[in-house]
Amino acid sequence: MKPEVDYLAVIIGAGVGGLGIAIALKRAGIEDLAFETASAEAATVR
Ligand SMILES: Cc1cc2nc3c(=O)[nH]c(=O)nc-3n(C[C@H](O)[C@H](O)[C@H](O)COP(=O)(O)OP(=O)(O)OC[C@H]3O[C@@H](n4cnc5c(N)ncnc54)[C@H](O)[C@@H]3O)c2cc1C
Repeated sequence: MKPEVDYLAVIIGAGVGGLGIAIALKRAGIEDLAFETASAEAATVR
């Protein structure tokens, strides 16, 4: 099944690095899709 939104970038892990990339992509106007196994983003630093 084709997704409703085409993503130019996929982020695996919403840790510090992943969130930084997500912010940079958003500022650049690039739609991304992030996957995170933990129940919260940046869970490592809490
Ligand atoms: C107890 C502790 C204290 C710390 N204190 C400091 C500090 O005071 N100052 C400092 O600068 N640094 C500190 N650090 C280090 C800092 O947490 C790391 O350097 C930083 O989190 C690394 O960021 P990262 O995005 O590379 O990895 P992470 O933050 O580990 O993010 C990776 C993410 O990917 C997710 N993930 C993994 N595999 C998958 C998968 N297959 N699919 C989807 N998601 C996945 C994980 O759940 C995680 O959320 C500390 C670390 C720990 C453990």
